[in-house]
Amino acid sequence: RKGSVIITGASSGLGLATAKALAETGEWHVIMACRNFLKAEKAAKSVGITKENYSVMHLDLASLESVRQFADTFRRSGRPLDALVCNAAVYLPTAKEPTYTAEGFELSVGTNHLGHFLLARLLLDDLKQSDYPYKRLIIVGSITGNTNTLAGNVPPKANLGDLRGLAGGLNGIQSSAMIDGGDFDGAKAYKDSKVCNMLTMQEFHRRYHEETGITFASLYPGCIATTGLFREHIPLFRLLFPPFQKYITKGYVSEEEAGGRLAQVVSDPSLTKSGVYWSWNKNSESFENQLSKEASDAEKARKLWEVSEKLVGLA
Ligand code: NDP
Repeated sequence: RKGSVIITGASSGLGLATAKALAETGEWHVIMACRNFLKAEKAAKSVGITKENYSVMHLDLASLESVRQFADTFRRSGRPLDALVCNAAVYLPTAKEPTYTAEGFELSVGTNHLGHFLLARLLLDDLKQSDYPYKRLIIVGSITGNTNTLAGNVPPKANLGDLRGLAGGLNGIQSSAMIDGGDFDGAKAYKDSKVCNMLTMQEFHRRYHEETGITFASLYPGCIATTGLFREHIPLFRLLFPPFQKYITKGYVSEEEAGGRLAQVVSDPSLTKSGVYWSWNKNSESFENQLSKEASDAEKARKLWEVSEKLVGLA
């Protein structure tokens, strides 16, 4: 039978390119989990994904209610779950003030981390039940966890501190809107959320890999300077960032190439190792990359897991 994969945020950028790459093999049915149903349908058509290879299901990660409804609706669809790709993200580098999810969490961490944390926890049982030759839970990471690159050291740097802002509810009222309890900074909030993604992947691996056989992995697909992720940035940045990445840092990858990389992590029979953060070298070969000290801190991962469980109503 075909594999069945859920990709969050498949309506643009990396998620869409990955959906296309997997659907084209004819071996996968892609469930595009998107907040804008019509946009997702149009996106699928625009890149030529054929009808029998995808379906769109509504998911707004900025609402825990929507995440729960998505899990229910997916279950009622009767489809198996062989792979889950947590890809969607928002990036608000120019925001002066925090904005919030339906439950009142700062939007970047609320969407990128907490929404995906609840989704992955709810769908873990469905993955367990899959009889596919391999089953995988992939959480898209970022370079901000790499200490061996320049880009990982550009300020403001990610720092979760002692998680006091998160533990306080991340709502800007009783607590700070930032995980570490500091002043709001949109670029840092995004980087913090990506560190949470990578810590979460490793904690899943420690808690569930042995028992379930599920492969948990993360990746940095390269700098895809053309995606919608930079839509909130100032126009000059959006103009100069792609050529800067192409010619100066040489970290640039096309959406198509990045989609191929993520599709590889989902479906390549040789990439079954769990707990890995994948990256690609100049020759586009995958390798196991090292994470920064904070992004591989097991004690912080455990604490993040426990605090997140409380916030999303699982504990
Ligand atoms: P895009 O902005 O193109 O795609 C983000 C996707 O997330 C969109 O489909 C968007 O939906 C969706 N999304 C945003 N908010 C929500 C929500 N509340 N509920 C459901 N879906 C939502 O960015 P990219 O493709 O670049 O980003 C994809 C992933 O790649 C992210 O995890 C990002 O951190 C990561 N990444 C990107 C890099 C890059 O250079 N671009 C580098 C490293 C990592 P909609 O279409 O409706 O807006």
